[in-house]
Amino acid sequence: MAGIYIHIPFCKHKCTYCDFHFSTTFEEYRQEMIDSICQEIELRHEYLAGKEIKTIYFGGGTPSILLESELKQIIKTISTQFEINSRAEVTFEANPDDINEEALILWKSVGVNRLSIGLQSFKQSDLDWMNRAHNVEESLNCVQLAQKHGFDNLTVDLMYGLPDLNMSEWSNHIQKVIDMGVPHISAYCLTIEEKTALSNWVNRGKISTPNEDVQSDQFMMLLETLESNGFEQYEISNFSSPGHESKHNSNYWKGEWYLGVGPSAHSFNGTSRSWNITNNQKYIRAVKVKSEIFETEFLSKLDQFNERILIGLRTIYGVKRTELNDILPISSGFESVLRGFKGKGWIQEKGNVLTLTKEGKLRADFIASELFID
Ligand code: SF4
Repeated sequence: MAGIYIHIPFCKHKCTYCDFHFSTTFEEYRQEMIDSICQEIELRHEYLAGKEIKTIYFGGGTPSILLESELKQIIKTISTQFEINSRAEVTFEANPDDINEEALILWKSVGVNRLSIGLQSFKQSDLDWMNRAHNVEESLNCVQLAQKHGFDNLTVDLMYGLPDLNMSEWSNHIQKVIDMGVPHISAYCLTIEEKTALSNWVNRGKISTPNEDVQSDQFMMLLETLESNGFEQYEISNFSSPGHESKHNSNYWKGEWYLGVGPSAHSFNGTSRSWNITNNQKYIRAVKVKSEIFETEFLSKLDQFNERILIGLRTIYGVKRTELNDILPISSGFESVLRGFKGKGWIQEKGNVLTLTKEGKLRADFIASELFID
């Protein structure tokens, strides 16, 4: 089983908090970029060693910017280079301002069967300072329109921990997405990433972010509200009603293989990770001359052990002791740190599997880093 990720490095606007790779000035070379992505798919089709493709994920950047001809060109290239399972999950990230009847018909016709919509907030002043390209009205209308066009397998992104977002507003945002009838929600706490407009504002004191207690309270509200409405938190930031978990992302978390194409995309094949050139022009040139498009890191046993902890503990699937032991023997030092976390009620162990408790989920990264071996 394997997956393919396609990074579309174009955006209409530069959102003030975002440090993903994208460009807002791409019109002159957009066809060259699509050709390069397709060429990379052809050059690297052996990376997945003939495995059947179970998931395809268009992310970015903004895939919903793609023109019909561009999208069809990429899909055609993938289908000629790989064996794709007839029930493969095909996810497409779309921003509300790009969602309209014509686009939805196109996406459905090329095989997209899961839409991921970046709503982020239902508060116009938040969307404004974030410099999002859409408004609240578009957020409210696009989900209904997608459902009308048969996209029942929908996920929406929301953000909390925003400056000035109070508990009652946050509660209202959660309730709105529940009322929309979406079966999957990804919710992210605002983080201040370096070299973004937001980090500049924070450093200059122009904007302050909520303290950690407020962010924790908003996280707990999210957890409790969604759980009481039939959603399961199957990863720290991801909530699903039964059967609507993201297969693509779940495969990342379970350590399955995937090929990422496009600038900045990452790939994994069990023992090594690679990451593509991030700069758009350098990427196009590298593909053209078939030179090194990516760098590779081979994972030592130590890396594999720590990675299983970091990724596994964030999910409902947890980390299996046997799986860790197969990589490296579990040490007495590890057991002692683990006992401490169990005593605090942050980690639970059922059968062979370690998972975080609700309290533990608030400190997932800290717990994982304490369990790392070096
Ligand atoms: S649309 Fe998405 S990828 Fe593009 S700048 Fe905004 S948050 Fe980043």
